[in-house]
Amino acid sequence: MQYTFASRMEKTPRSFIREILKVTQRPEIISFAGGLPNPALFPVKELAETAEKVIVEEGTAALQYATTEGHPPLREWIAERYKKRLGLEISPDEILITNGSQQCLDLIGKIFINKDSVVALERPGYLGAIQAFSMYEPKFSTISLTSEGPDIHELGQVLDKDKPCFFYGVPNSQNPSGITWSRENRKAVAERLERAETVFVEDDAYGELKFRGEQMPSMKELIPELTVMTGSFSKIIAPGMRMGWICAPTPILEQAVTVKQGTDLHSNILSQRIISRFLANYPVDAHIARISAAYESQCDCMLSAIQSEFPEGVSYTRPDGGMFIWATLPKGYSSMELFDRAIKKDVAILPGLPFYTDGGGSDTVRLNFSNSTPERIEEGISRLGQVLREYLKETPELHAA
Ligand code: PMP
Repeated sequence: MQYTFASRMEKTPRSFIREILKVTQRPEIISFAGGLPNPALFPVKELAETAEKVIVEEGTAALQYATTEGHPPLREWIAERYKKRLGLEISPDEILITNGSQQCLDLIGKIFINKDSVVALERPGYLGAIQAFSMYEPKFSTISLTSEGPDIHELGQVLDKDKPCFFYGVPNSQNPSGITWSRENRKAVAERLERAETVFVEDDAYGELKFRGEQMPSMKELIPELTVMTGSFSKIIAPGMRMGWICAPTPILEQAVTVKQGTDLHSNILSQRIISRFLANYPVDAHIARISAAYESQCDCMLSAIQSEFPEGVSYTRPDGGMFIWATLPKGYSSMELFDRAIKKDVAILPGLPFYTDGGGSDTVRLNFSNSTPERIEEGISRLGQVLREYLKETPELHAA
C-alpha cells in the first residue's frame, strides 16, 4: 500500500539514534551510545510509597481530567526552586507542566515557526530539538559551539542576516558536547539577543546535574523578557514519569497553553501529583546531590580511561555536569567507520552526525557515561582505544592529511 503522507514528513530526520540503539541493545554490548540516566538512582521505593498514598488519598482528583497549566503545588515548587537555585523571581503562573521537556520543544515549534522561518541552533545541537522543530519546516542557521559557548561573531551574523524566530541552546552541560557556556559568553549572547530582540529558548535539562565549577547565571536572569526556559524531572527523578515544564513570559505561556490544549488537554495528572508529593515529603536536595556525585565519578572514570587509552590526536571535552563526553577524531577520520569497527568488539558509540543540520560532524562522537558501571566504562574505553589505535595505524595517510 502506498500511503500519502504530509510533505513535512519528508523533512523530518529519521531517528538515527533509534536505528543505532536497536543494534546496541544486545546485553553483551557495552553501550556508550544511548542517553539514559543511571536507573540505580531512581527513587523506586519512595515513588512506590508515594504513588500508593496519592491513589488512596487523592484518587478521585488524581484520576480525573485536570487543568492544562498543571497541578498548582507542582508549579509552586518549580517557581521556588528557581528562586533557591538561580535567584530568579518566577511566578507559578509563568509555568506550564508538560509531558517531559521534549514536549516543550514541540509546543515552542508550533508557536514560533512558520514554514521556512529560520531557527538558530548551536553547532552541534541537541538532536531531539532538531527533530521537534523540523516538523514545522524551518531553515536552520547554526552557530559554532566553542569551549566557552556559542561563537559570538557568528551569532551576530546570524541574527543580523537571517533574523531567526528564536535561538535554541543548552547552556548547561550541553547534549551532545558536555560544554557549559562561560559567564562572559552568556553576557555577550544576552547582549546580542537583546539588541536583535530575539527570543532565546534555554533548555536546562541538565542544570541540576552540575557536579563541578561555579553556578552560572541563567539566560533568564540576563534577559527575562526574551527567555523561554524548559526544565525536566527526567534527570532528577525518573524519565518514565514524563514530566517537564515551560517557564515563559505570560504572553508566550498563554500561547503554549492554547497549543497544549489541542495536543493533549493536559499532562498526566497522576504523575504530577506523585511527583509533587514526592518533592514535598523526601529530602530532594540530598537525592539530587547523590545523583550528581555518582555522575561525577562515572564521568571521571571515563575521562581517566580515555586519557590512558585513546591515541594522540583524539580530542575530547571535560564536562562539568550532565551525561556526555564529546570526542573529535583527527581530521579525515570517520565516526561511522569507528562505530562499525567498535561494534565488532561489542562496544557502541554514537556518531555525532545527527547533531548537525548541515551534513558536518562526521569526525565527532558522543559518549554517554551515566548508564555504565565503572568496570564497563574501563573495559569499553580500553576496547575503544584499541580500535582507535588500529584505525589510525591502518590509515596513516588520513592522520598525516
Ligand atoms: N533537552 C535535552 C538537552 C535533552 O538531552 C533531553 C533528553 N535527552 C531532553 C531535552 C528531553 O528530555 P525529557 O523529555 O525527558 O524531559
